[in-house]
Amino acid sequence: MSKDLLQVKNVKKYYVSKKGFLSGPPKTVKAVDGVSFTLKEGEIFGIVGESGCGKSTLGRCILRLTELTSGEIWFDGVDIARLSREEMRQKRQEMQVIFQDPGASLNPRMTIGELIREPLDIFMDRLTEGEKTARVEELMQMVGIDISYTSRFPHEFSGGQRQRIGIARALAAKPRLLICDEPVSALDVSVRAQVLNLMAELKQQFGLTYIFISHDLSVVHHICGRVAVMYLGRIVELAEKDILYRSPCHPYTKALLSAIPQPDPERKRERVILQGDVPNPAAPPPGCHFHLRCPYASERCRQEIPELRETEKGHWTACHLTEGVKE
Ligand code: SF4
Repeated sequence: MSKDLLQVKNVKKYYVSKKGFLSGPPKTVKAVDGVSFTLKEGEIFGIVGESGCGKSTLGRCILRLTELTSGEIWFDGVDIARLSREEMRQKRQEMQVIFQDPGASLNPRMTIGELIREPLDIFMDRLTEGEKTARVEELMQMVGIDISYTSRFPHEFSGGQRQRIGIARALAAKPRLLICDEPVSALDVSVRAQVLNLMAELKQQFGLTYIFISHDLSVVHHICGRVAVMYLGRIVELAEKDILYRSPCHPYTKALLSAIPQPDPERKRERVILQGDVPNPAAPPPGCHFHLRCPYASERCRQEIPELRETEKGHWTACHLTEGVKE
């Protein structure tokens, strides 16, 4: 049984807008509002939801690229939310990120060799020059980039190759946890599967743990073990992917899954059409935040926030409809 690598406990990230002459009193946006989950070493944990649901902010909170409003983040037995800047800088060797747009995240003035070497200079300065060069070449080979391209610049590569370089850079300092924020969304469909397969192979090879953030449920299904669905800053459903995709409980998850094209007519789901758009996070509706779009909303839903409860072993749902399913 793998040990817990990461525990996210009641994490909140609120942004308060400035008071303005025209905009009125300051508003609080609850980008992440009381999120908790535990991640085992070696897991690939998916976080899905529409744009603006807080999934990327949650990833940034875990890396402490943004400060939490409250909550705890335990990484390998240490609450990293309490670490000083310097302590966190060292911890970051073990926690790296892969961004959505490799074109934007790679410095265009640096060669591929310099880009992959940079984390070694920051985190592994004890290595000799020769060892660093050897490590850069090893990483390039690992991600399928020819080592004769070391002196080339990012613009000389395709989107898929740039993302491979981003992965090599993230792996350079031998991290344990990788936060992958929409890592294949900017890529052509034809190269997505290649990059996903590479990530799965590297995970096996190095015993990595991933948090995989995406708006695309098909991509998450391809690679993840457990999946959390977020809506307006909260997790509304969390389960093993096979359970979540086969028998979703939350109406929002059902609607998201019903929108995935299904070539097999036998497995086709009833289409659930959501009403309206995601509400303004600065003024979320009272009660269940989903009630304005939910086809099953009742009076209670308009007043009372449903708690995330375990409805069967390992399957958590925040919906009044599922209460009493497991006592
Ligand atoms: Fe829909 Fe009510 Fe469940 Fe919210 S609590 S998802 S509004 S049924």
